[in-house]
Amino acid sequence: MKRAIYPGSFDPLTLGHVDMIERSAKIVDELVVGVLNNSAKNSLFSLEERVSMIKEMTASMPNVTVASFDGLLVDYMKEIDATIIVRGLRAVTDFEYELQIAQTNHVQNANVETIFLTTNLKYSYLSSTIVKEFASYGGDISNFVPACFIDRIYAKYHISK
Ligand code: ADP
Repeated sequence: MKRAIYPGSFDPLTLGHVDMIERSAKIVDELVVGVLNNSAKNSLFSLEERVSMIKEMTASMPNVTVASFDGLLVDYMKEIDATIIVRGLRAVTDFEYELQIAQTNHVQNANVETIFLTTNLKYSYLSSTIVKEFASYGGDISNFVPACFIDRIYAKYHISK
């Protein structure tokens, strides 16, 4: 039984994240999408909003659950009995940071392994930051996020379309 966690801020969930969830759910038995409660980061969506948006998008995926966590990822993984971390690599710029985090997590707990999925080419440029930047100026975000989130994202910037 291989339980994996896909951790992130998901502020908001993008089509790149959805693609990662779909693909990683196929290679592990159970996937927990772990939404980081990072009070230091000024998030656009509250933790509860982010969790419920991801639940909405993954409702039809039988081996995917959504949860929030704070503190150290390796500690949370012990709590839920997960041993695999899934992360995405978009460009070389992701690599250095991700390698350092993966190695640190492995030193903290030798049972923890990180697997990386390369980005789907369609979404290689996409990040939550780009979505927020575009949306704040009323830009078209229909290629970036699930259609059902578009209005909710604009609403955060008091934009109605
Ligand atoms: P964090 O705040 O931890 O960087 P994000 O919510 O931005 O979290 O992303 C969570 C994970 O999803 C990271 O591993 C990131 O590399 C990956 N990711 C984000 N966008 C994409 C994308 N377009 N394609 C592939 N992986 C992605």
